[in-house]
Parts: sequence; structure tokens; C-alpha cells
Amino acid sequence: MIGQDRKQWGTTPWTYERVPQRGGQVEAAQVAIIGGGFTGASTAYHLAKRGISAAIFEASRIGEGASGRTGGLVLEGTAAGPLEQADSCVPELDRLVKAEAIDCGLRLPGCWEIEHGAGHNQRLLPWQDAGQPIHIANTVSGGVVEPARLLIGLLRAAIGLGATLHENTPVRRIVTTPQPAIEFGRQVVYPEYIVVAANAWLSELLPLEHVNVHSSLTFACATQPLDAATLQAIGLAEGIPFYTTDLPYLWGRTMDDGRVVFGAGLVFGSPQELEASDVNRGSPRAALAQLEDRVRGLHPGLRKVEFSASWGGPIAFTEDAVPLLGRLPDRPTVIVAGAYAGHGVALSVHAGRLAARAIVEGAELPRWGALDRRPPRRRRRWRR
Ligand SMILES: Cc1cc2nc3c(=O)[nH]c(=O)nc-3n(C[C@H](O)[C@H](O)[C@H](O)COP(=O)(O)OP(=O)(O)OC[C@H]3O[C@@H](n4cnc5c(N)ncnc54)[C@H](O)[C@@H]3O)c2cc1C
Repeated sequence: MIGQDRKQWGTTPWTYERVPQRGGQVEAAQVAIIGGGFTGASTAYHLAKRGISAAIFEASRIGEGASGRTGGLVLEGTAAGPLEQADSCVPELDRLVKAEAIDCGLRLPGCWEIEHGAGHNQRLLPWQDAGQPIHIANTVSGGVVEPARLLIGLLRAAIGLGATLHENTPVRRIVTTPQPAIEFGRQVVYPEYIVVAANAWLSELLPLEHVNVHSSLTFACATQPLDAATLQAIGLAEGIPFYTTDLPYLWGRTMDDGRVVFGAGLVFGSPQELEASDVNRGSPRAALAQLEDRVRGLHPGLRKVEFSASWGGPIAFTEDAVPLLGRLPDRPTVIVAGAYAGHGVALSVHAGRLAARAIVEGAELPRWGALDRRPPRRRRRWRR
């Protein structure tokens, strides 16, 4: 059932301070935003900065979606590579964090793209994974952020500028005709604009005709704090985050207190099935156990490591991994943003800014995110 605290998804290594809520008539808001993750918070912030009133509806509590359960790798571009209007998400996030003095541990030392195999004259990490060594193939732009502190910081800034936040307020339905409206509790409101920032729950709220949005849980665990010698021995003393560009997939990063977060694994399901998933049972439990075993097998220094937190979180993606950021084809005052796959920290904040600009200035949204695009044509198999 949507709207619960989602304790069944395990605990993250960070905690949440409560966001001071500002009361306010939801009916009075010009824009209703569905979802209180990075996308919704950033949309509200950028609207409020331009004097547009926005109300955020969050089904659960802040931090219970992907943004509060994310790994915190800050990556440029999108899961489908760099796309028009999505090529400077990282410097933009850096500017915003500095402008609002958000204390969220944003560091941008770059990010390692790592691959299985020995590589050619490339630096090896002292790991064994899936029976193979691992080398650093590339260092790309990016870094790390503490997600809880970024999310709360964004929401505080938005609320400080006049946005309102309504936690534990699931939107039951979006009505698109005759006039866009949202239904929650026993109320119906008719805002001028609706921004659907519900990510893994998108398909539950809107029937999207031309794009398939798949949702899944993905998993992460954080070690106990490791001392400097162990971090050095396992090759992570520089504090550079990493992700594999081949399979089996693995990503990770160090935290300021020496814990190391690792992530991998997918369990697919409808939004309702994901809500019901429990990391202590069935396939989510198996995926987390597999991740923890894999981490212990990476290096002798990790063989006996204990985990301080293990959790799952929801992600969404389209068939071609191109995120959604567009107006509903027949209802241009309803904007949808999400489905960034595992590549949404900087991008979701950027998408919120683009959505706000589209509302305030009527600016064009990028064509790649359009909701009327046809699914990619299947590549023909080459036959001998
Ligand atoms: C474990 C994990 C690790 C990840 N690691 C990384 C990473 O290292 N780097 C990276 O770039 N990306 C990563 N991602 C992806 C990234 O976190 C997401 O793309 C991003 O946080 C999405 O933000 P969002 O605001 O669009 O969605 P969310 O944060 O999921 O917010 C959507 C919100 O909508 C709410 N909602 C849903 N339905 C309703 C409704 N009917 N009414 C009201 N509210 C509703 C939900 O409760 C939720 O809070 C990771 C994701 C996970 C789960």
C-alpha cells in the first residue's frame, strides 16, 4: 500500500532530520508536484525562486523513495550517455549547493569507470570479482554526495522560498480531462500545472502510451568504518567512487567516516509489488546476500567485514534507458520527469530545473524526454 514508511526496504547508513513544514492551502498552489525526491524538491525550489507557488505531495516520508536510498555517486549525463541539455548536470549541482550553502558533503574528484579483466597498461584495483581482476578503464567527471543531506537541504531551500510540503499525502489519481486535477484523500485540486515526479511509481499514476517504464528494486550495503590502512590496501584510499561499465554490475564509494557503500542487483516488479517487497525475504534477501558475499570476496581485507546497513531502493527505466522529461502529449500542463535508472542524482536535480523553466518561461523541454516518442526500433539480427 503506497504511503507507508517502507521499513521493509531496510535501513540506510544515514538518518533524516525532519524538514520543517510550512502549512499552506494546497488549493492555492499554482503547481502541484507529485513526489518529494530530488526531482520534486528541485522543481519546487526552482519554481519558488521565480515566485511561483508549489505544493509537494509525498506519499510517504521524505527520504523513502530513490533519492533517500541512493548510492550518492554524482554522475554527468544520463544512463543513455550524454544528451542535449543534459551535459552539465554536475557543475550545475555544484553551483546550486554552493549558492544555497547546502552542507551535503559534495566532493567532485571524478569517478572511476572500472571493468573486469586485466586491461592494457591500466591501473589494477587489487580486487578479484567474478573470477577476474578489475582495472580502472577511465576517470570521468563526477563525485559523491550525502543524499539525505542534499535532499533535506533542497527541501529547506524550497520551503524557505515559499513552497509547501505535504508528507504522507499520496495522490490517488491524476485526472487529465476536462481540466487537469489531482485527487488525494477526499480532496481534488485544480492547479495550473502538475509535475509528476513519482519515478518508480510513474506507471501507477499515468498510462504512458508510447513508453514503457519498468520499475525495480536495487540494492546497497555499507561496511563498518574501515581504518586508513584497510582503505589503502583495498585501493580506495583516494575516496574516488566507481562503477563497472560491464557485467556483473557493481558500484561503490567511500563515506567520510570510512564506511564503504557497495551496490548491485535488480528485482523487477510493478510499483505495488515493489512496495510489498521485503529485504528480509525471497529474492530481495537473496540479492542482498549475494551482494554482501561478493563484497567479502573482493579482497582479503574485506573477507570478514561486517555491514552497518543494507537496503533496497526503487529505480525506474525505459526500454532504451533514455529518461523521461516531457509534457503529456494531449495535456501540456502536465509534466513528467523520471526514469533515470541508476543515474539520477545530478540529473534529477537538473530535470527539476528544466521542468520549472518550462513552466515559468515556456522553455522547450529536450526532445529526448518526450512522452510521445515511439519505442526504439529493434535492431535487426544479422544473419549469416
Ligand atoms: C539503491 C539505489 C542506488 C542508486 N545509486 C545512484 C547513484 O549512485 N548515482 C545516481 O546518479 N543515481 C543513483 N540512483 C538513482 C537515483 O537515486 C534516482 O534516479 C533519483 O533519486 C530519482 O529521484 P526522483 O526524485 O525522481 O525519485 P524518488 O526519489 O524515488 O522520488 C519519487 C517520490 O514520489 C513519491 N510518490 C510515488 N507515488 C506517489 C503518489 N501517488 N503521491 C505522492 N507521492 C508519490 C515516492 O514516495 C517518492 O518519494 C540509485 C537509486 C537507488 C534506489
